[in-house]
Amino acid sequence: MRNKKGEEKLYPLVQRYLRRRGYLTLPRKGGRVQADIVGIRDVGGRYSHEIEVVAVEVKNRKRTRLRYVTQALGYSKFAHRCYLAMPARYGEEEVRYARQMGVGLLQIGGEKIREVLSAETKIPTETELTGLLRRFDFVKCIFCGSIVRRSQATRINRINAFGEEKHLYLCKSCKKYLQLQVIGVV
Ligand SMILES: [Zn+2]
Repeated sequence: MRNKKGEEKLYPLVQRYLRRRGYLTLPRKGGRVQADIVGIRDVGGRYSHEIEVVAVEVKNRKRTRLRYVTQALGYSKFAHRCYLAMPARYGEEEVRYARQMGVGLLQIGGEKIREVLSAETKIPTETELTGLLRRFDFVKCIFCGSIVRRSQATRINRINAFGEEKHLYLCKSCKKYLQLQVIGVV
């Protein structure tokens, strides 16, 4: 599935486009659910943790097809916004179908990217979202809810009432805070 028709040369353009819109873009890491390009940003403002994941299907083809839109839609399992990006003009039929599916369309023209249609917000499951973050070594602190790098967090294993083992994480700051609580400093 990799490097179909020189798609990878378009990846830096799409990544730059997303970075300019405040997304942290992550390199593709093989595996099942991963899209060509994934962008993550914090949309929670000062008082809440809310992340938004955007996933882009990149096709380096002259002709657009409905099934490319369907492919991009598949990313809604783990992304809030799904896009198809191509160096082609989208026909009326594709635009209509993409609008119906809530998939956004990006047109790549030389070095520029133009949003032809914006993506609707999807609702990925918590499990899929957590799985995606883990693929990039990001985890959520169980205490404060911050997304942090896994290497900066402490894992806590718990077995729940269903006999399932869960791996939970505590960020550095919370670990320190809780330790201080125990010794009665804070
Ligand atoms: Zn924390």
